[in-house]
Amino acid sequence: MAVNLNTEIQMLKGVGPGKAPALQELGVHNGADLLEYFPRDWEFLPETAQISELTPNANVCVCGVIESTDYHKFKRKPIFEIYLIDTSAALRIIWFNGGYLANQLHPGMRLAAYGKVAKYKHQLQMTNPRFKILREDIPEHDPKQLGGAVYPASASISSGMLKYIVRKNIDELSDCVSEYFSESFREEKNLLSRKEAFRQIHSPQDEKHLSAAKRTLKYEELFLMQLGLAVRRYRMRSFAPSIAMKFSPQLDRRIRQRFPFFLTEDQDKAIEEIVHDMGEPKQMNRLLQGDVGSGKTVVAVYAALMAIANKTQVAIMAPTEILSRQHYHSISRFLEGSKVRTELVTGKMSVSEKNRLTEQISEGEVDIVIGTTALIQGGIDFQNLGLAVIDEQHKFGVEQRAKLRKDKAPHCLVMTATPIPRTMTMTVFGDLDVSVIKTLPPGRGRVTTKLVSPENRNKAMEYIRGLVKAGRQAFFVYPRIESGESDRNLKSAEEEFELLETCVYPEFSVALLHGQMPQEQKKNVMEQFRRGEINILVSTVVIEVGVDVPNATVMVIENANNFGLAQLHQLRGRIGRGASDSFCFLFSESDNETAIKRLEVMQKSTDGFYIAEKDLEIRGPGELFSTRQHGLPDLKLANIVEDFEMLRMAKKDAEQTLKEDPFLDTQENQNVKKAIIKNSAPAWG
Ligand code: ADP
Ligand code: MG
Repeated sequence: MAVNLNTEIQMLKGVGPGKAPALQELGVHNGADLLEYFPRDWEFLPETAQISELTPNANVCVCGVIESTDYHKFKRKPIFEIYLIDTSAALRIIWFNGGYLANQLHPGMRLAAYGKVAKYKHQLQMTNPRFKILREDIPEHDPKQLGGAVYPASASISSGMLKYIVRKNIDELSDCVSEYFSESFREEKNLLSRKEAFRQIHSPQDEKHLSAAKRTLKYEELFLMQLGLAVRRYRMRSFAPSIAMKFSPQLDRRIRQRFPFFLTEDQDKAIEEIVHDMGEPKQMNRLLQGDVGSGKTVVAVYAALMAIANKTQVAIMAPTEILSRQHYHSISRFLEGSKVRTELVTGKMSVSEKNRLTEQISEGEVDIVIGTTALIQGGIDFQNLGLAVIDEQHKFGVEQRAKLRKDKAPHCLVMTATPIPRTMTMTVFGDLDVSVIKTLPPGRGRVTTKLVSPENRNKAMEYIRGLVKAGRQAFFVYPRIESGESDRNLKSAEEEFELLETCVYPEFSVALLHGQMPQEQKKNVMEQFRRGEINILVSTVVIEVGVDVPNATVMVIENANNFGLAQLHQLRGRIGRGASDSFCFLFSESDNETAIKRLEVMQKSTDGFYIAEKDLEIRGPGELFSTRQHGLPDLKLANIVEDFEMLRMAKKDAEQTLKEDPFLDTQENQNVKKAIIKNSAPAWG
């Protein structure tokens, strides 16, 4: 019976009921699964030769039966020696220091040995070859099956057995796959046919064919992912009608008058992109990326004023109440003396206060409503919401945006301070358009970062004393609040606070701030620090978000190697906000090489994008950016970091495909259409 992609696993050749469960454990349930159960590695063995035909210096594989074994010392070197015979002749094979082989190799065993043949005292022999023990009763030990694919195996099924099964079925299975691309396209892109690619990846003819097969299948994965994303983007734009907002040079002038400074080039560029998006009758979905302090809020205010000029309302959402309060203050400052009415919704409002405000919002009397994400969790009904600004800082509320879309589809501007590497904006965040603010507003001092080893600790502390004496303020950041049993090597904010206050810097005002303190107390401490009444703020990562004190120009991060690079970068963003130069000291006790390398990245660069790329390189894409989590298909072969160039090409090609055939209706696109429906059904919902 012929097998095909739907053939159940036990019906495939070489499987049967005995081996089927082991395959199912590996997630292989049918022919298609087997075809996509890709090898994890490949071995290319030299060609098999008869012993009688061997010539000196040939690199070959010989198969035969072990006739004798011997373990002895030769000139004090221990040597394990065997004679291997095939139907033509016998060959001496030796392994230096081969004592460990005495328990493995015995006369009568069948063996394949591969390596170089050399002449020794007029006789040919092999020295230190690699080898495989072959068993007559195991079909995959057929010498013809040696080399090639190495599969991820399990305790119940070996790689060799998997290879045997795949080889038995590969021709018929690969004959069943449908092609995604036309021949001319494949030629242009240098791709194999899918059929050939599957055959070669499982059973490569040689390394050249293997790499062509890998390239083909990786490209295919990336192309399908990008096509799915492009479809999503296209649908969002075409089927989520929004208000097309009018814009004029007069409006531009009026808005700009609100800012007491000139906008930076990057801010102007982002605004241009936003103005363009909001002018279309389809929903804007734009991600605005920029380090903390790069001036995103100003861009958001610009967009808000454009929406208000078009007689719509604006919602601005932040992840925490502290942050929404901060937005409220800075936005109100820009809008002082204007007719725009801005309101802050907080959790502390009384029920009657909240009811009144809710009513006014629903009647369109409030222009800008600022609050936490609770704003969109029901209760508040806008009369005419034209723009939603979501400040996500460091988290990515994919769900929140989805919730917003259900509404009347306001234009959406998502702001994030996390520098998202390009690889990520092209994949996980591939359904958003992206604006980037790279350069900080002018007039900021430089931030110098210094890695401090234990022996230079005191020197650094004295240096800091000088800076604080001169009027600067400092952050001391610790990896945890209290000292605990768990990890004695980590310093705690509480303990070190006492030490700093009483012993190290008794002449300064030192205060403690951490997440477990009551809200009110936290607010007070921050306020005092802002006013300059506190010289040194001892804290945990809570200060990562929401402190903007230009006079704070010194930061010490203890146990620095306990923080991720992205987190260190965010922390460091709290200083360097004023005109004077800032200093960041990374204290680390670790002499681990990778730990130091990581911290050196911080010392070398203040470019968030560079740091994020390095972080990605060191840690791998990992959980935060797992594609599955974001509703994208998992990639089996391609790697978005390593195969970035190909990713870029696939994105361009996918966009081109959709441009020519927006609904993938043409005959030649039917197979890819089926594939992306299978991959990402919700996109077609
Ligand atoms: P972000 O929201 O990206 O963290 P903000 O918008 O809060 O950054 O800007 C940080 C600070 O820089 C604010 O005090 C803001 O007024 C100021 N700022 C923003 N844009 C400019 C600019 N073009 N020139 C000078 N100062 C600016
Ligand atoms: Mg901000």
